This record gives sequence, structure tokens and C-alpha cells, in this order.
Amino acid sequence: MISVTINGDDMKRAITVTFPAPLPATITCPICEGNKCHVCKMSGKIDVKVDAKIPIQRGHIIKYIADNLKEVSAELTKTYGLTPEVNTVGVHDTGEGNYEIVQFSSIGGACWVVFRLDEIENPMYFFSRQKLDRWKKGGYE
Ligand SMILES: [Zn+2]
Repeated sequence: MISVTINGDDMKRAITVTFPAPLPATITCPICEGNKCHVCKMSGKIDVKVDAKIPIQRGHIIKYIADNLKEVSAELTKTYGLTPEVNTVGVHDTGEGNYEIVQFSSIGGACWVVFRLDEIENPMYFFSRQKLDRWKKGGYE
């Protein structure tokens, strides 16, 4: 059986992943509680198959996703139909015009497209929250 030793704070951040790969295990007979009976053929123990449960630190899973983002993203779309979420997150008045802020969120992160509402103007694209916030404060365009 695979065994992973994780201690202290790391254990708190570990999540348990169950793999669909039953492993053989011997358990104490649940009928006689080890006192030997007909069910366990007088051995006190029963052989069963159990799912492999392995604690894995969240950081390792997140690193794997970050390192394989394109493949994970394509697989999520293919398997679960998962696509980026698109939401209007606000309307902003700069004093010179009204803008709709649309956020695109995916497992790779988020980006924003800002459309002017009161006039026809090319949309603006923001790839970081800081740049969007700077624009909203009037310091960036
Ligand atoms: Zn028994």
C-alpha cells in the first residue's frame, strides 16, 4: 500500500484522494470482532478490497494544475463541459463615460474586458486586477 508521511501544518492542508484502484486488505472480522466464527472461517480476519486513499497536499495538486494548465483546461472542457464564466461585475463611471466591466474567469485565472456604454469605443482589456483597479482610479488607460 502506498504511504505518504506528512506532518503538522502540511497535514491540515492535505486532502484525501480516493483512487478507483481497490487494494487487497485484511481486516478484523466485523461479525465476531476477531473472536473467530463461521463467516471468517475461524480465522478472526476477512480479506477485502479497499479503495486507495492517499493524503495529498493541496499545494502539489495546484502546482500540477498550474504546470499542466492547457491540458487540464482542455480535459475539463471535454469531460465536464467546463468553460470560462463570463459575468458583468460592475458598471463604472469615470466622470468622462460609463463603462461595463465584464470578467472572464477560468481555472487559469481571470481577465476583464471593459466596454464603454454611452459611446462607441474599442473595448479595453485588463489581465491583472491591479491594472483594472488603477484604471478605475483614473491612473491608467
Ligand atoms: Zn468472524
